[in-house]
Amino acid sequence: MSSKAAPRRSTIRHRKGNHHGSTRELTVRVNALRNFDYPEAILFDCDGVLCETERDGHRVTFNMTFKENGLDHDWDVDLYGELLKIGGGKERMTHYFNTVKETREPFKSQWPEDTEERRAWIKSMHLRKTDLFLEVVESGELPLRPGVRRLVKEALDAGAKVAVCSTSNEKAVKGIVKTMLPEFAARIPVFAGDVVAKKKPAPDVYELAAKTLGVNPARCVVIEDTRIGLLAGKAAGMRVCVTKSIYSEDEDFTGADAVFDCIGDDGDERFGFEDLTTPGSFWQGDD
Ligand SMILES: [Mg+2]
Repeated sequence: MSSKAAPRRSTIRHRKGNHHGSTRELTVRVNALRNFDYPEAILFDCDGVLCETERDGHRVTFNMTFKENGLDHDWDVDLYGELLKIGGGKERMTHYFNTVKETREPFKSQWPEDTEERRAWIKSMHLRKTDLFLEVVESGELPLRPGVRRLVKEALDAGAKVAVCSTSNEKAVKGIVKTMLPEFAARIPVFAGDVVAKKKPAPDVYELAAKTLGVNPARCVVIEDTRIGLLAGKAAGMRVCVTKSIYSEDEDFTGADAVFDCIGDDGDERFGFEDLTTPGSFWQGDD
């Protein structure tokens, strides 16, 4: 779907003979059907869906930390994509410094020989990086992805609930919602961090959101950018629309109800709230 579909209206057509024997057509708009057609809630993932958090936030603040520590390293967008295969920020730094240790600082000359010292040093770098990340979030320098604001507004205007469901750092997720969507933040509950014991791909965070919001999971639409997130949404019995992010675009999205490159700003929409009906052509697998 390359452009926004026209809003759908349910109509019932009656053909009825009149006393002249001709047929006239009555068109009755059935607004009540809308209550069954539209989602009760749109549940957004945070990282990669609201913002390109990895590229514009984490990558940037790793680089800031290196600079502050006098280290001549700058992770560009492609290199960072490779490094993302290493889960965990501390593990990622350790892995990277190990791969360049023959020629580059800090390992070349300053690297603490002692394992405990190494661990402490990496930990302190990571703590600083986490602080810088929150500073970047709160400064509003982490832009929303195209169409996020529009879809949030359309959903709230239509009376649907909106929430953000993420298993990453609660402070960061709340910071993103508060800073980047200030006009809606009071109406967007955040389910994040350790609010559930099992992280995605477990359905727990989505199940908790549906229960707390008092909505039927089958009437929720999840917006995700990764296979792990897609699996979490489907396991919760929800419809899942994928908007691919820069580092997830090659993942396998088999099983998604719809796949797009983004939501899309005004004039460049891939879909809108009006498209999220069930059943409807939107959900029949085209993108
Ligand atoms: Mg994500």
